[in-house]
Amino acid sequence: MNHPTEQLLSAYYDNELPPSDRAAIAAHLVQCKACELILQDFAAVTEHMGSAALPEPSIAAQARWMNSFRPARERGVRQLAGLLTAAAAIVIAVSMAIPSNAQATAAPAQWEKAAVTGSPDVGTTPQATAQWIVADLSAGNGSVQ
Ligand SMILES: [Zn+2]
Repeated sequence: MNHPTEQLLSAYYDNELPPSDRAAIAAHLVQCKACELILQDFAAVTEHMGSAALPEPSIAAQARWMNSFRPARERGVRQLAGLLTAAAAIVIAVSMAIPSNAQATAAPAQWEKAAVTGSPDVGTTPQATAQWIVADLSAGNGSVQ
C-alpha cells in the first residue's frame, strides 16, 4: 500500500472509516514510521486543543449578555399571559354558548337541521342553505338563551 493521504489518516484517527479501509491503514501503519508520526501529530493537536483554557468573559460582557436576555424573557412572559387570557376567554365563551343539558337534548332548531341536511324548500347549494340559515337566525329562531 502507498502512503494514505492525510485526509484518510485523519478519518482513520477519527474512527470514520469502514472496517476494510481501517484494517488496510492499520497494516500500513505497522510498517511505516512516517505515517505513524503523522498520526501522532493528530493526537498531539487533539490533546493541545482539549487542554486549552477557554477565556473567561469579562464582567462587562456578562452584564451586556444579561441585559440583552432580560427583555426577551419579559416579552415571553407577557406573551404567555396573553395566551392564557385568550384561552380563558375562549373557555368562558364556549361555556356560555353551550346550552344546559336539558336544552342540548331538546330537538335541534330548524337552522341546525338545515345546516346538516340542507333545507328542502331552499334548494341544496351551500350558498342557498347558508342564506336560509342566516334568514332563520335573523328571525330569532334557534337563538340560545
Ligand atoms: Zn506511510
